[in-house]
Amino acid sequence: MSFASFGLHPSLLKAVEELGYQQPTPIQQAAIPAILNQQDVMAGAQTGTGKTAAFALPILHALADVTSAASTVKALVLTPTRELAQQVGQSFKDYGQYLPLHTVIAYGGVSINPQLSAIEQGVDILVATPGRLIDLLSRQAIDLSALTYFVLDEADRMLDMGFIDDIKRILRTMQKERQTLLFSATFDDAIFKLSQQLLNNPELIEVDQRNAAASQVEQIAYEVDKHRKREITSYLIGSKNWQQVLVFTRTKQGADDLAKEMCKDGLKTAAIHGDKSQGARERALEGFKEGSIRVLVATDVASRGLDIPQLKYVINYELPHNAEDYIHRIGRTGRAGETGTAITLLSADEKWLLDEVHKILDTHLMQQWLPGYEPSLEQDFSHTPKKGRGRGNSAKPRGRSRRR
Ligand code: AMP
Repeated sequence: MSFASFGLHPSLLKAVEELGYQQPTPIQQAAIPAILNQQDVMAGAQTGTGKTAAFALPILHALADVTSAASTVKALVLTPTRELAQQVGQSFKDYGQYLPLHTVIAYGGVSINPQLSAIEQGVDILVATPGRLIDLLSRQAIDLSALTYFVLDEADRMLDMGFIDDIKRILRTMQKERQTLLFSATFDDAIFKLSQQLLNNPELIEVDQRNAAASQVEQIAYEVDKHRKREITSYLIGSKNWQQVLVFTRTKQGADDLAKEMCKDGLKTAAIHGDKSQGARERALEGFKEGSIRVLVATDVASRGLDIPQLKYVINYELPHNAEDYIHRIGRTGRAGETGTAITLLSADEKWLLDEVHKILDTHLMQQWLPGYEPSLEQDFSHTPKKGRGRGNSAKPRGRSRRR
């Protein structure tokens, strides 16, 4: 299947070709025709599957020949984070570069003035985070009454981040006659409830993203003593000469501490998390993309939606408490057909978290020892630790790489 077979506008085909996209990804194959067919869509797809083009291309196609006033927003994409807003907005600009459409990106944490001036120049497509959009609406800088496309991107994360009331408030400013597209990496009751309020007879699209992600990403778990995690991280990156590595920690403090230690190990490292200013996050991300920063340590919220093309290595320095985040983390690599490696550094107290990951992955990670970093004898990786249980049954042969 080719992009041309969707009957997309020639300007879009040209842009897509220049970006080097040879064929549509599974989510694009399923979603583009449905959206072109003017249906509401509820799609299960995480970042990395090509989901942005799956909604951006048909929207741009439909708007390509619309000639109404540029100051009325025709398509709105809501994203949970600033980084995702930037990425999605940039994708609209890239795909639509040969079309006379204006895309404006609006998010908080930075001055609103440049965004207001951009809006004054005209806005056909607005990509925004909820808080800043409400700000714009309350200043009457933006009018959503003529909106024809509404996209809720990463809807699961929107709900996790407590944006439901903001979303409802924004919805009240829109007309009912519109096409609504909901994208979410995961589905639960809350998402289905939201979809009932938002969508009209939607087409349900689910590509087998979990297995698709897993098949492109080699996943390994090294059992290791907790106090040696920093050492093994630097060792892996240095000895294997990995040049661009995204490392996940659970806490902001943990991210900062690790970044400092890694710098001491001679690895150019930066941390991104919610306490860093928008400018600092953007600088770190830019440095990481262009290669001046070799290791980026991130918390889950900060990393959400990051698109780092060709990222090959992800290290889970600690497993997330929410197993779904594991899928998001490893989805940073192995994107759009590329291969990647996701390493988990597993200390004995995290075994129960790995069990949670196994449940949602529906497969078992290969657990190994890295020679020289074998866990000490008293560590018990075989059972979920329970309060008050002794460690008497934990002895395992010490040895070289062991696979289960
Ligand atoms: P997304 O899931 O939208 O964040 O996209 C993930 C990455 O895949 C981005 O870097 C896109 O530029 C890229 N991408 C999207 N569609 C395709 C395609 N059909 N072929 C190759 N790369 C793609």
